[in-house]
Amino acid sequence: MNHLSYIHQGNTAWSNFLDQLDRVAPYLNDLQDRLDTLRRPKRALIVDIPVEMNDGTIKHFEGFRVQHSLTRGPGKGGVRFHPNVDLNEVMALSAWMTIKCAALNLPFGGAKGGVRVDPSKLSKRELERLARRYTSEINFIIGPQKDIPAPDVGTNPQIMAWMMDTYSMNAGSTITGVVTGKPVHLGGSLGRVKATGRGVYITGMDVAKKIQLEINQARICVQGFGNVGSEAAALFAQSGAKVICIQDHSATLYQPEGIDLELLVQYQKQHGAIKGFSPAHEIANALFWDIEAEIFIPAALEGVITEQVAQSIKAKLILEGANGPTLSKADDILAQRQITIVPDVICNAGGVTVSYFEWVQDLASYFWTEDEINQRMDVIMRNAINDVWEKARQQNCSLRTAAYILACERILIARKERGTYPG
Ligand code: NAD
Repeated sequence: MNHLSYIHQGNTAWSNFLDQLDRVAPYLNDLQDRLDTLRRPKRALIVDIPVEMNDGTIKHFEGFRVQHSLTRGPGKGGVRFHPNVDLNEVMALSAWMTIKCAALNLPFGGAKGGVRVDPSKLSKRELERLARRYTSEINFIIGPQKDIPAPDVGTNPQIMAWMMDTYSMNAGSTITGVVTGKPVHLGGSLGRVKATGRGVYITGMDVAKKIQLEINQARICVQGFGNVGSEAAALFAQSGAKVICIQDHSATLYQPEGIDLELLVQYQKQHGAIKGFSPAHEIANALFWDIEAEIFIPAALEGVITEQVAQSIKAKLILEGANGPTLSKADDILAQRQITIVPDVICNAGGVTVSYFEWVQDLASYFWTEDEINQRMDVIMRNAINDVWEKARQQNCSLRTAAYILACERILIARKERGTYPG
């Protein structure tokens, strides 16, 4: 096994991904020898982003774009603006995109980008300058047939609009298909904003039924009340579940009879965070994973379900809205404790599925209705979760390993058929 030794260290996101690959290897039969292709990114770019701040000073930010695999099509993956972004994290996120796109059978490889920055500390103009310069720096490796960025933590449709505009200015024509998650009047797709949360709900409902977990009155805890967490929470609440605990970067709110989500969304819009919302009361952040509930939805950052959390969590079902929330050793403990996890590469794939629809619509310059989008998304998500469930049953393995088997088989067969350049 020829790992990139300088990066396979400690409990990092990338080493977590490598552990996940090691777990799937025994199931891949004669394709196993080819797995090394996924143990390194195809291409990783580090860029310096000088930005003129409003006070006239120049500040330098570090940016990344990693294309983990382009075997099955152009790279696809979001751009994260967050103070903890580093090469290791972006590599892992890009690799999870490779697996996700293949698990869903979308014709994409995997990529991810990021800038080490706290966007809340920048003015709108500074943020625009940062997004535009970042796009210019990665301009030569992105494009509708090369690599298509999208929003992730800390980025949004406005930033995608600036990225699309910058790329188009450099190209000399309007090229909407270079990014997805754009505003709707700029070639964005209806249904994209809510798609990831909707996908968490669809896959969650499906698996809840399979494990005979009654959603009506089920208690749910959600970590992260952003794009993904808030939509997933709202849909489960509409189905009769009680969202009893919500944590964001500012606070952990608890209300055993169920939090009023509509009021909380309004409060968050006004205050920028959930801290201070009543009648829910605030509890210590560390207590989040100890709450008694049937379903937990991590929908913030990676690496939060540690061995310790896995040993104590009192859940029947974990829905991974976030990318990479569960460490590999925690996965083993959860399996022993018979707690079902719908893995990120399936659970949060609603976003990339509608991103795929957006890219198709941009290339065709023909746009679908929201109903068409939701119906097509439901079919893809339900087929994916059923295939993964069936594979897990056949191989007697976790849903994550099953998703990795399906994805790795597709990627490695494609790799084999393409051959090794220059032959
Ligand atoms: P977002 O920026 O809209 O929201 C992030 C939420 O997490 C916010 O509520 C924030 O307060 C909270 N948060 C941040 N740090 C936290 C901490 N330390 N503890 C608790 N909460 C914290 O981001 P998003 O788009 O909802 O993405 C959330 C996760 O879902 C990420 O892992 C992202 O990669 C993944 N994801 C997003 C999409 C998408 O379409 N947006 C698609 C697939 C996966």
